[in-house]
Amino acid sequence: MSGTSEGPAPAVELVRPTVTESNSGVSDTNLLRAAFSAAPLAMAVVNREGLVVRANESLGTLLGIAPEALAGRPAAELVDLASDTRAWHAYREVLRGRQARLRCTRRLKHPDGHSLWAQVTVTPLPTEGVNGKQGEKGEKGVLLSLADISARRELQARLRHLQMHDPVTRLPNRALFFERLSAALEAESYEQSGTGRIGLCYLDLDGFKAVNDTLGHRVGDRLLAAVAERLTRCAEEAGLARGNPGAVAPLVARLGGDEFALLVEDSTGTDQLADLAESVLKALQLPFDLAGQRVSVSASIGVVERHAAGTTPTGLMQVADTTLYWAKADGKSRWTLFDPERNAHRMTRQALSSTLRPAIERGEFALDYQPLVGMADGRVHGVEALVRWHHPQFGTLTPNRFIGLAEEDGSIVQLGRWVLATACRQARRWQLERPDEPPIFVSVNVAVRQVWDSDLVADVAEILEETGLPARLLQLELTESAVMGSAGRPLQALQALSDMGVGIAIDDFGTGYSNLAYLSRLPVSVLKLDGSFVRGFMYEGEGVAPNPADEIVVEAMIQLAHRLGLTVTAECVETAAQAARLRRIGCDTGQGWLYSRPVGADRISVLVGGSACRQG
Ligand code: C2E
Ligand code: MG
Ligand code: MG
Repeated sequence: MSGTSEGPAPAVELVRPTVTESNSGVSDTNLLRAAFSAAPLAMAVVNREGLVVRANESLGTLLGIAPEALAGRPAAELVDLASDTRAWHAYREVLRGRQARLRCTRRLKHPDGHSLWAQVTVTPLPTEGVNGKQGEKGEKGVLLSLADISARRELQARLRHLQMHDPVTRLPNRALFFERLSAALEAESYEQSGTGRIGLCYLDLDGFKAVNDTLGHRVGDRLLAAVAERLTRCAEEAGLARGNPGAVAPLVARLGGDEFALLVEDSTGTDQLADLAESVLKALQLPFDLAGQRVSVSASIGVVERHAAGTTPTGLMQVADTTLYWAKADGKSRWTLFDPERNAHRMTRQALSSTLRPAIERGEFALDYQPLVGMADGRVHGVEALVRWHHPQFGTLTPNRFIGLAEEDGSIVQLGRWVLATACRQARRWQLERPDEPPIFVSVNVAVRQVWDSDLVADVAEILEETGLPARLLQLELTESAVMGSAGRPLQALQALSDMGVGIAIDDFGTGYSNLAYLSRLPVSVLKLDGSFVRGFMYEGEGVAPNPADEIVVEAMIQLAHRLGLTVTAECVETAAQAARLRRIGCDTGQGWLYSRPVGADRISVLVGGSACRQG
């Protein structure tokens, strides 16, 4: 309820009270008095002290006080004008003749107990006196009029209720939820009385679509209504559990579809929210009986609890949405608490993927090289090129952080071409640096999408031509899944590359199908055994019994590979013991920290020059 002052047009225009005889012999003043008294609009003439001079019948009826009894009473009291400062101020200004009009809405109590809504208007009367004394200067007054707008208010309230509630569950809808959320955030941020915190359980039913699809929308709607009932009960119990009689129960709202929210104002911490989420999951555990149909449903809940200050409604909902997504991804039928670190990771993913392409142009990528060492002679035969991103904001990033993203958005094609060209140029440089030594080859990782979405064969041919690197000094690493089932274009590409003299290696072998027989039919020359096999060797010599099965499997694999004409490189060789065993079972090449971490090109020159790799 608030008072407002509006434009100058008076609501009622009073005819000037001049005392003249009319044809019927009744004076105009008396006529006007009679009209005033009988007017259906509730009115009172108020003098400049604010006291009622005369009230009409309608006003008497409206207020439940006889019009004569109203005379002499302060008008402001009758219509509760002093209860808000703005209306009070405006009223004083109208009385003083400094403001044209005041209009406000008031809730009034009738002596018989019912209350009503009245629109109150106060307008100045013309300069002639209001005490019947014509022309008396300064005896200005005002006309107070009241319109009963209870019916309109009630209709408005009903409309608002319809607008703000969901017809299926009768819960507050999204619009009302956001209104309450905004108000709560504002109140919590500025009022000292509460905890200053806010909590939200954002809930989505698991598999609701299946219920709708199989049992029909009517059953679906019934289920939603039944879920709403259980949620409301949880909220009520949570409200009671807070002990404090003034504490409000969480607001339960349907945000749309099968999404609900429970908003906890003045929350006391994550424990309170966790308890609420837990009680909701429990409440939904019992199957629902929907007109003879037994339906079970579970929910995933994203839980957020934080300081209200600095939190916006949309910010909170975004975070809740992410957390709900985690709850689903973590296996559904559970609640998950918002984790800023997990979120930062997600944000980084977003930030990275949006800056990938320009980063290639800005030259933020660099290659490290890791030696591939002959098991028999301990010499560096080749190096694997491993890409790094020197990110201006996040520091140096390893490929696991961005190769997947680059594959998703297709920028891997551009990045892959850059890697290939850079690695080939470097390999050619090493070759020229040491013309009398056997040259080392460079092994470059190739993503599936590069084989499919770009003309890899043409790119390779062009780069070899440009750099002058002999094809035999280039090896390409593809994963098994990239070449599995390859027919048509990828197979032709592999064949063309192999025909050129480029080596093809299968990376991370053993993590996929491990279909050696199939691979041997492809133009593949090297198997790179995944690090997990070598890890099984780790404990030998460290007082822990090694697992002989690992060794037997790896040995069999190496023998089979050799029979099929492939050589074998072991990844992740970290200890001398692992290297010794790999050599014993016939592995050809090793790669790993035992020999060297991935290092810059300069360091490789030194390593190769001094043949400085450690022997297992
Ligand atoms: P990968 O091809 O299997 O590369 C070997 C990974 O194992 C490298 O990780 C290397 O640093 C790591 N590594 C080497 N020795 C050891 C060891 O002894 N112990 C352990 N625990 N790890 C070792 P990195 O550099 O993080 O590369 C990860 C993956 O990223 C690579 O796995 C490769 O699949 C991909 N990748 C790297 N560079 C490129 C590239 O230029 N293009 C594409 N498409 N993928 C790339
Ligand atoms: Mg590799
Ligand atoms: Mg690998």
